[in-house]
Amino acid sequence: MNIKCSFCQMPYTLSRVEMLDALQEMDAKKLSHYDAHCPRCRRATPVERKRMEMFFPNWREALKQFESEMKAHPQHEAPAPSSAPKPETATEAESKPEPAPAKAKPAGSKKAHAKKK
Ligand SMILES: [Zn+2]
Repeated sequence: MNIKCSFCQMPYTLSRVEMLDALQEMDAKKLSHYDAHCPRCRRATPVERKRMEMFFPNWREALKQFESEMKAHPQHEAPAPSSAPKPETATEAESKPEPAPAKAKPAGSKKAHAKKK
């Protein structure tokens, strides 16, 4: 959805993932709006929850789907076992690093170091 910064008038977009995030947070905290942060001035523009829900009415379904996809394809984990684990996202440092079988990653990732088999 499109948002316009109320401070610098910069138009920007919330992606579906960002909206899911926002809706989840609003739901959890019982908020009536979400603070969307402007990419230019970094200030928060409130976006009404109602407006966002109207824009994305089936977000709960989408969230479930998204979560199951994330479980099936955890693609924001770095595929390189040699690099140090990032403390911010690595919640499963204890569990064994499961190598994803034949993962087709789009170009542009940092480590394009494919093992051949
Ligand atoms: Zn701004």
